[in-house]
Amino acid sequence: MNHFERRDGQLYCEDVALADIARAVGTPTYVYSAATLTRHFTVFDEALAAVPHRICYSVKALPNLAVLRLLGDLGAGFDVVSQGEIYRLLSAGLPTKHVVFSGVGKTAPEMAFALEHGIHSFNVESEAELGLLSEVAASRGQRAPVSLRVNPDVDPQTHPYIATGLKQSKFGIPWGRALPAYDLASRLPGIEVVGLDCHIGSQLTSLGPFLEAVDLMVGLVETLRAQGHRITDLDLGGGLGITYADEAPPHPKDFAEAVIQRTRHLGVRLLFEPGRVIVGNAGVLLMRVLYEKASDARHFVIVDAAMNDSIRPALYGAFHRIQPVVLRPGDSRVVDVVGPVCESGDFFAKERALEPVAPGDLLALMSAGAYGFSMSSNYNSRPRAAEVLVRGDRFHVVRDRETLADLTRGERVA
Ligand SMILES: *Cc1c(COP(=O)(O)O)cnc(C)c1O
Repeated sequence: MNHFERRDGQLYCEDVALADIARAVGTPTYVYSAATLTRHFTVFDEALAAVPHRICYSVKALPNLAVLRLLGDLGAGFDVVSQGEIYRLLSAGLPTKHVVFSGVGKTAPEMAFALEHGIHSFNVESEAELGLLSEVAASRGQRAPVSLRVNPDVDPQTHPYIATGLKQSKFGIPWGRALPAYDLASRLPGIEVVGLDCHIGSQLTSLGPFLEAVDLMVGLVETLRAQGHRITDLDLGGGLGITYADEAPPHPKDFAEAVIQRTRHLGVRLLFEPGRVIVGNAGVLLMRVLYEKASDARHFVIVDAAMNDSIRPALYGAFHRIQPVVLRPGDSRVVDVVGPVCESGDFFAKERALEPVAPGDLLALMSAGAYGFSMSSNYNSRPRAAEVLVRGDRFHVVRDRETLADLTRGERVA
């Protein structure tokens, strides 16, 4: 469910015509719907109302300050993977007490920064990290609250680049080493064990792999408690998928119900780290058609957005629906929608049936909220897109389009 819909042939975000945003702000521009963000967070949160829980929105999916603030005001905690993401929360005027800090490569300065700001806990991904974190915390006269991220070796049946819970993946502590790692943690002076964590992958479209992981985690909580470890948090990560094309991912309600049923007897506080399911369908990338070009083999629609704005098609072969913002009469044609970047991987769609378009027309790349702007770059020296947040019948530019001066900021001729 999202708030992008067509009225009289025109695509709207809530009560604002996307064409009006393009006229005022230009293209390419990311447009986010506040009502959709609110709804997605609230549905997930309410599904867990029966048990102690916190939804820690995964900042990396879409880290714009306005989005962080909106979710924080709804009661979200945050899952961060860098000091920079904590800095973003502070910049949004948000408290850091509900932050969990994940990632395999935290540095000592990042650990110190997180400790200074009193985050909720660290999701520690290796024994070596545990040792360093203990040193950093002890040197500050603190004990770092820690959940160990374990790798349950469950196949999430998703794209290999976003599968994180297989034993070949770099994430988490190998399942078989979890117990010794907890024993180590309990002996370290700068560590206080608070919980257990996993995150098996992203864009999961069936419940099976989740529940397989949950069952393993429940067993591990029981074993750890039997051995005297205090486990109050059970963090089940993120990864719930969304509909890009015809996927039918589990509804957060069914997901939550199944998890509650399996974990309730533990009396743990459940933490979740959803990213995509909160923001994915709450954003579109608005772009304009520059040219059309036909070769013997293909009909190209060349647009003013590119792989530097959204790399998902190039990186994962990801599918995004594409819709003209204003419909024209005529028949669909099979086209490739491509950007101006000098790479053959710079495409948004290949051999796709698209309604008729002409140069100057606007297109919307749908479901572009997650891992869209956040993975954007300046490749080909293209200033990054503007970001707009729509609330009802008003819209706000929440990130200015980059300027040419932004492109060379910090550079100099030697
Ligand atoms: C990226 C990430 C998430 C969010 O994943 P989604 O698929 O967007 O829900 C959650 N936890 C960790 C540790 C991550 O790296």
